[in-house]
Amino acid sequence: MTSSILVVGSVAFDSVKTPFGVDDEILGGSATHFSIAASYFAPVRLVAVVGKDFGNSHVEVFRKHNIDTDGLSVADGRTFRWAGEYSFDLNDRKTLDTQLNVFEKFDPVIPESYRSSEYVFLGNIDPELQYNVLQQIRNPRVIACDTMNFWIEGKLDSLKRTLSKVDILVINDSETRELARLSNLVKAANKIMEFGPKTLIVKRGENGVLMFRGKTIFAAPAYPLEDIYDPTGAGDTFAGGFMGALAQANEVTDAIFRRAIIFGSVMASFNVEKFGVDRVSELKRPEIEERFKQFKALTHFEEL
Ligand code: AMP
Repeated sequence: MTSSILVVGSVAFDSVKTPFGVDDEILGGSATHFSIAASYFAPVRLVAVVGKDFGNSHVEVFRKHNIDTDGLSVADGRTFRWAGEYSFDLNDRKTLDTQLNVFEKFDPVIPESYRSSEYVFLGNIDPELQYNVLQQIRNPRVIACDTMNFWIEGKLDSLKRTLSKVDILVINDSETRELARLSNLVKAANKIMEFGPKTLIVKRGENGVLMFRGKTIFAAPAYPLEDIYDPTGAGDTFAGGFMGALAQANEVTDAIFRRAIIFGSVMASFNVEKFGVDRVSELKRPEIEERFKQFKALTHFEEL
C-alpha cells in the first residue's frame, strides 16, 4: 500500500531569467517543486512557512494536488524570495538575490497528524532544523535529504550529525566533491556513504544522475529535450518523483530504487519545459507513463 511522504523545505517566490525568457515572483521553492512532483505518486504532507503576501490562489496549487497543507504556517512578514539568472548553456546559474524574510525564523513544528509519516524528505534548509524535524518523527522508514555548499561550508558538524540519521542523500556533483573533499566522484561517494547515508544520489544537470548504493552504481541520463526553458527546481522535482515512486511502491529493493530514479528523471524532464511549476502542475498521469517508456527505450541495449 502506498505510504505518505512528509516534506520540509522552502516555499518561495522566484524571479528567474533564462536565455528564453523572464518571469517574476512565480511560485517556487524546494518544498513546492518536490511536493507537486511527488503528489502524482503518493499523498504528500507539506511543512513550510510563508508570509502574509502568500495568497489563496497559491495555496490552491497545493490543494489541487491533494497536498496536505496543515503544516504550512503563515507568519508575519513576507514570503521567502529568490532570484537567479542562467547563462546560455543553462548549466551555469547565478543567484542574484536571496531574501529569507519569514524563512529566517523558521523552526518547523511537525503537526501531530504528520508524525507517523514513513517517508521523509528534508529539503535544503539549515541542517540543525533538518535534525530537529527528524526528532519529531516517530518511526520513519526512509529518510532522504538535500543540502548545498552554503551548509557544507558553514555548518559541517551539524550537517554530519544530520547525515548520520539519513538513508539517502541527494546532492549535485560539485557538492559531492566539496563534502568529501575529494575530486574523484566515485571516491567522494564512497566517503560520503561512511557519514551515514547508505544511498547517495548525485545530480549532474544535463548529464543525468548517478546512484551509489553500497557497492553498486546506477546511472540515468537526463532526457534529451529540444526545448528547455527553466531548470529551476529540477533537482527538487527529481527528488519528488524519486521519493514519490518509492513511497508508492512502499518496498525497499534495488529494483524499486532504480525505477524510482527513472521516475525522478521523468519528472525533472517535465519541470524544465516551462517556467516554475507551470508544466509539472498541469501534468496528466499518462504523460508520465509515456515518458517513462521513452526513458526505457532511450537506455535499453542488448548483450549480443
Ligand atoms: P534547485 O534548482 O533544485 O536548486 O532549486 C531551486 C529552488 O530552491 C528555487 O525555487 C528557490 O526558491 C529555492 N532556493 C534557492 N535558494 C534557497 C535557500 N537558500 N534556501 C531554501 N531554498 C532556496
